Amino acid sequence: MMSAADETRVAIALHGGAGTIERNAMSEELEATYRAFLDDAIIRGYEQLREGRAGLDVVVNVIQLMEDSPLFNAGRGAVYTWEGAHELDASIMHGENLDAGAVAGVSTVKSPIALARAVMEDSPHVMLASRGAEAFALERGFDLVSPEYFATERRREALEAYKANEQAGLKPEADHKFGTVGVVVLDQAGNLIAGTSTGGMTGKRWGRIGDSPVIGAGTYADNRSCAVSATGHGEYFIRHTVARDICARMQFGGATLDEAASTVVMEELIEADGEGGIVAVDPAGRVALVFNTPGMYRASIDATGRKVVGIYGEDETP
Ligand code: ASP
Repeated sequence: MMSAADETRVAIALHGGAGTIERNAMSEELEATYRAFLDDAIIRGYEQLREGRAGLDVVVNVIQLMEDSPLFNAGRGAVYTWEGAHELDASIMHGENLDAGAVAGVSTVKSPIALARAVMEDSPHVMLASRGAEAFALERGFDLVSPEYFATERRREALEAYKANEQAGLKPEADHKFGTVGVVVLDQAGNLIAGTSTGGMTGKRWGRIGDSPVIGAGTYADNRSCAVSATGHGEYFIRHTVARDICARMQFGGATLDEAASTVVMEELIEADGEGGIVAVDPAGRVALVFNTPGMYRASIDATGRKVVGIYGEDETP
């Protein structure tokens, strides 16, 4: 029998991307829209966990809310590649037995996180890419959409700005509000699950794949340590195996979640010039929301029921 205390021992954290997100560059209206969205999404996820839903369902459900919203760089609203297309990446991991699924470079799949889950549960593989992943989606009866589904004016303008910068010989500062989405949970069964979904980075070329679908880099979950979803400049997160490093520091080094996450994001990554952040949860339902950029869209409810919603660096953190 579960005691009342056990029933409440669930936790959830989410991000909607990290980057140069500054108060003076955002209208009050847009800020309010983001805050309302983050607040609603975290409460919905938390309530599902409290009802006893499996963490895997909750991670997929909450990520799908964000994939369907043009506010974030995932699903609808994904950034453009150099050629003006959308190539989406996603991954999911279950901390009980280290099951994982990932898709990279898909252009026709409405919900890449759902496809990543199908790769995990319904294929012998962990990671499928581009045309092969789309053939798998077709076989499994997934919703396929035309390229216009992902298109937004805001992301089109970001591509144009990126190209103009590059042509002017400037460092191609893409839309530095990266905007990837990710969710981590502790469910009532004591399982830790992490998921991440993204359009990648504006102006990416040559089939570039970031950290989001790379297990150990953008996503990792292990019931013995923590669940992590990352956002930021993916090349650095791949090289520093950010998500796995945070979990390993807890498992083998005895670090707390906060210590492990802060060392990796605020020391290792800063030293390497790797911009971004993470959300994470541990088996006790503690959460960490750590980023080295001016802002990160984020929200969490920890095992004590404490809710935090934030955008800028100066907003409250857990
Ligand atoms: N990490 C993602 C990538 O490099 C981008 C992001 O987080 O916004 O593809």
